[in-house]
Amino acid sequence: MSCDHQNFEAKVSVGRLAADDAGTKIVGFSADITVKCRDCELPFEFIGLPMGYSPLQPMCSVDGTEARMPLKPRGEVMPMERENLVGYSIRRVD
Ligand SMILES: [Zn+2]
Repeated sequence: MSCDHQNFEAKVSVGRLAADDAGTKIVGFSADITVKCRDCELPFEFIGLPMGYSPLQPMCSVDGTEARMPLKPRGEVMPMERENLVGYSIRRVD
């Protein structure tokens, strides 16, 4: 009997995004979201997002199962809003 996917489990993990290998130049934050079917545990894939991490736009993991939503503390101005980040490589540090 196949599952008709009626119940869901979602997880959100918030981390910081760094623009240097040491993880000291924090340029943003990311809320990483995964969703799966609670009944059959099949992961859901997000649609329409480019792959990677960005402090400027929502992106997703290579397999599409993790949406990475950039966010910031309300009212704060993040470095990516002041600087041109072209050429930076962004990675998540926990
Ligand atoms: Zn299911």
